[in-house]
Amino acid sequence: MKKMSCYELGGACNEEFYATTFKEMAELSKKHAMEMLQKGDQDHMNAMQEMKHLMDSPQSMQKWMQEKEELFNSLDELD
Ligand SMILES: [Zn+2]
Repeated sequence: MKKMSCYELGGACNEEFYATTFKEMAELSKKHAMEMLQKGDQDHMNAMQEMKHLMDSPQSMQKWMQEKEELFNSLDELD
């Protein structure tokens, strides 16, 4: 299992997520972001705006995801 923070995943807070695969990690982060957006959290809305820029270009988005996955892969496994 590995740990990443909301910040590390392009978010806006220190919330930490635990997952065994990058796919799971991405899902957790997405779910969290949605919850924060529903609460109207300004910081996460700003972060989401940044993400929307990325999503305009499939290439940028893919590169971004790849970077995050590489970061995930480089992390130490937690006990
Ligand atoms: Zn967050």
